[in-house]
Amino acid sequence: MSWASERYERILDWVSKNEYENFIDDDKIDEILTKTKNPSKQDVLDVIARAKQNALSGTMLSPIDVAVLLNNTHDELWDEIFKAASYVKEEVYGNRMVLFSPLYVASPCVNNCKYCGFATSNTAHEQKILSDNELVDEINAVLDMGQKRIIAVFGEHPKSDYKFIADSVRKIYSVKKNNLSIRRVNINAAPMFEDEYQHVHKQGIGTFQIFQETYHRQTYAKYHPKNTLKGIYDWRVFGLHRALKAGLDDVAIGVLFGLYDYKFEVLGLLYHAMSLEATFGIGPHTISFPRIKKASGTQNDNMPYALSDDEFLRVIAIIRLMCPFTGLILTAREEPEIRDEAIKKCGISQMDAGTNIGIGGYHDKSKKDELNKVQFKIGDNRCIDEFVLNVMKKDKIPSFCTSCYREGRTGEHFMPFAKNAKIKYLCLPNAILTLKEYLLDYGSDEAKELGDKIIPKYLSELDENLPHVAKKVRGLIVDMENGARDCHL
Ligand code: SAM
Ligand code: SF4
Repeated sequence: MSWASERYERILDWVSKNEYENFIDDDKIDEILTKTKNPSKQDVLDVIARAKQNALSGTMLSPIDVAVLLNNTHDELWDEIFKAASYVKEEVYGNRMVLFSPLYVASPCVNNCKYCGFATSNTAHEQKILSDNELVDEINAVLDMGQKRIIAVFGEHPKSDYKFIADSVRKIYSVKKNNLSIRRVNINAAPMFEDEYQHVHKQGIGTFQIFQETYHRQTYAKYHPKNTLKGIYDWRVFGLHRALKAGLDDVAIGVLFGLYDYKFEVLGLLYHAMSLEATFGIGPHTISFPRIKKASGTQNDNMPYALSDDEFLRVIAIIRLMCPFTGLILTAREEPEIRDEAIKKCGISQMDAGTNIGIGGYHDKSKKDELNKVQFKIGDNRCIDEFVLNVMKKDKIPSFCTSCYREGRTGEHFMPFAKNAKIKYLCLPNAILTLKEYLLDYGSDEAKELGDKIIPKYLSELDENLPHVAKKVRGLIVDMENGARDCHL
């Protein structure tokens, strides 16, 4: 039996014994969306007010409330929704934008997702797995950019199975350059069995991210052929339940917008978050919302449910209101204009910067632009310094912080901070310190100049709220100017 067919059988066996309760009820979601059509202006305003209150207690909106927002037809209220999204973000997370870089380690894949350049039937695609040496070169290149947090990405294949993933994580953490190293490795890979998650977890991973792609079963079946591992909907939809059961600290959810009706998908995300919270007491650490992009061997240009830019921004703001304690990630799939707009008004808290999704693309830039060497085409090609500058110009503070993870503030220990809107008090000092470190070691003159203006501004904000912390941060900044590194609270 091949690796894939043996695994397929084991997965079917797991599904037949699955004890978790189905949390996606298509009829119920359709019914809620129908029942809340054409809400009154007052209904929408009431939900916005509730969402703002929820920010302080970390409570999610109800499915009905979210459907009211999704069904809003009062044009003048969109601005209120955007303002509320920014308010919630500021209340819970403060003014920071956490930066990370995706690192593609292996592209071969046994699955055949119809929208993906890595699909097994796409023979024009150049498959590649980084060797140990190439992985080290990649990490050195990422460290040279000033990055400390990555998400490692893998296709599903016997050559990049859970043991390979664990080995890659170990290798990544082991690379030291000028005494600096990657401080947090998150993972985006196929769902695993519990013992496999545990093996990977032992290497000290951060968040495990799995996108359901679509919560709508019929659409899921259309894009993920039945005879493939990914074709088994229940295996994937409970993938993060197994991860938490196995002891992982943080999990991340997402949908691929463009496959099905966005309103259904947003409620799918909510039911997923509710199920994780009800079962394990921990909601998702982050939510992502990739939109389908051009990819080799696909027909992604004509997706029946593609969202316009305006719809997309509104959806992000609604997700911000829906789950106030969850980080929101918007990746470089999107063009700079959309990302900038989302920074301004949608309450995004994490973005990738200086992104290159070619396998080996950080140390060999030639891999970047050829469609048959990447999973899909990205829209934002700004280098990390340009991105840092841009974030600072928008009056936000770029953060390279990984402290929560390293200080054990993850999962159940992290949620109380996020849910009581206290995380910002820990984050601001660490954001200031990690930005300072970036500027000292990697910043362009322009970035240094702007950073030197905004850091004092944020320090005086700290003076007002937490004077003793502000004093400590000032001391650490002096230490850093004298050569200290990796200073955090
Ligand atoms: N193979 C693993 C899996 O599918 O779970 C790893 C994920 S894949 C390398 C990362 C994510 O990229 C997918 O979950 C999907 O949401 C997204 N993706 C795939 N094709 C895409 C496309 N054409 N445009 C945008 N995002 C895409
Ligand atoms: Fe493979 Fe993931 Fe691409 Fe599907 S989305 S073909 S599982 S890499």
